Amino acid sequence: MSKSILIIEDEVSIADTLAYALKTDGFIPQHLSLGQQALELLRTTTTPPALIVLDIGLPDISGFDVCRQLRQFSDTPVLFLTARNDEIDRIVGLEIGADDYVSKPFSPREVVARIRAILRRQQGKVQMAADTATPRFELKPQEARIIAYGQTLNLTRYEYLLLKTLMESPGHLFSRAQLMEIVWTNAPDTLDRTVDAHVKCLRAKLRQARLNSTGAADDAEATDEGIITHRGMGYSWSPA
Ligand code: CA
Repeated sequence: MSKSILIIEDEVSIADTLAYALKTDGFIPQHLSLGQQALELLRTTTTPPALIVLDIGLPDISGFDVCRQLRQFSDTPVLFLTARNDEIDRIVGLEIGADDYVSKPFSPREVVARIRAILRRQQGKVQMAADTATPRFELKPQEARIIAYGQTLNLTRYEYLLLKTLMESPGHLFSRAQLMEIVWTNAPDTLDRTVDAHVKCLRAKLRQARLNSTGAADDAEATDEGIITHRGMGYSWSPA
């Protein structure tokens, strides 16, 4: 995650103090004095900051408005700087998408500590979203599709049925005879090596999807790609 912090604050001495504390702590501070200017930057930047420190009392538009507009296109965490108690009431009372606030005058170290806490929480959320939203392998039986590393695999009928069977029972050891019975129904002349040949093709396709997703060069290293061979017994699905 980017360690850059955008400070939107019109009082230069406050911004400087904060920027210094952030720099000392390993962050890359950036400072703007106007709300509109900041929104314009945030709308167009390809490298958004990790967090925004936002003063409420800005000369052009209020920090509240900046936050409200920001939330229409960005989830970047916001830490408000506030000078008045009635502002605190508004931050707490309204759902404007603030992550925390600090009252002026503040200790820069306190602000940095709050920033670290918000970023830790954010990191946890992002990780959870990644874990639930993008599993590496997804079986879509209604669509007769299998997605690996975000890409739909281009599978033949038997490859699909074979991988589906394995994926539906992770860790379960299927003998070749069982797989033939489940997958190659109505194909009496199927041989043991038919299963092996299809496993080989599936591994190649899974491997290609994996390489595509990482952009890695073909390392020519043979891996089982989640389809484990149990010598003399059969196969199981165990995506590591
Ligand atoms: Ca101000």
